Amino acid sequence: MVTVIQRIIVTVIAGLLAFTSFSAQAKIRVFACEPEWGSLIEELAGDQAKVFVATTAQQDPHHIEARPSLIAKMRRADIAVCSGAELETGWLPLLLRSSGNKKVQINQPGYFEAASFVNRLEIPTVIDRSLGDIHASGNPHVHLDPHRLLIIAAALSKRLGEIDSGAANHYQQRYDDFSKRWQAATEQWQQRAASLRGAEAIVHHRDWSYLFSWLGIKEVAQLEPKPGVPPSAAHLAKLKQQLANSPPQFIIYGPHQSAKAANWLAKQTGSPALQLPYTVGGDKQANDLFSLFDVTLNKLLTTIP
Ligand SMILES: [Zn+2]
Repeated sequence: MVTVIQRIIVTVIAGLLAFTSFSAQAKIRVFACEPEWGSLIEELAGDQAKVFVATTAQQDPHHIEARPSLIAKMRRADIAVCSGAELETGWLPLLLRSSGNKKVQINQPGYFEAASFVNRLEIPTVIDRSLGDIHASGNPHVHLDPHRLLIIAAALSKRLGEIDSGAANHYQQRYDDFSKRWQAATEQWQQRAASLRGAEAIVHHRDWSYLFSWLGIKEVAQLEPKPGVPPSAAHLAKLKQQLANSPPQFIIYGPHQSAKAANWLAKQTGSPALQLPYTVGGDKQANDLFSLFDVTLNKLLTTIP
């Protein structure tokens, strides 16, 4: 015979099950401007987030077209996670405006700018657009320093808990786990990379400043005559002359940049041209944040005897 108490227990259990399955389905929708932030969200949210990554490693994040498909994704997002510091200034404001989505507008909890949580390098003392049209708020390519990345991860985890408070514990646990694994990996990377300290590099664009500042690599020149301006024959000829007596250890470019200038200068100077992944997906082995750093260090270390 079914007693009243048994009936109550069955009702309570059914209610709990319904609640659990409901909360498991209530995923947040994340619009990640770049692959590194998509991967960070996956680390911090797991199944609790449905992540859309707006760009690939093969695209230059300064120059993206604000396509209708991106606007449609932004319209449905609970949070936009981007680099900030003007990296996306040519396309993100238009996406935000066109989306009509109040949740993701600047100063709303659903708007997260990674670069605003860390000290930025190369903040210009004088803003002079004739010196190039980008990086007026300092260098926005902040994700390649693992220490800064962890600071950003902590801020992002907290923010996820604010916009999705029912799952705040879930985000906290995942952050704690990520933080442990990340700090252990960072220690290992630092040990492996010790021989890179003091190496000199030429870069296509200043995408690597945070990586270099972390590893003690010295940037001696850029292939771009000004930030955002493609390499010119005159500028490359000047570099060739400048480097004739002291060729750098490597000439670095990313998957979103042409290899032409780097390869030309490599031939002239004898320094190897090296394509680093830059972000997740920039190399077929760099498929999450951990392997991104592994592959980057492996490639740099191949050039150091
Ligand atoms: Zn840049």
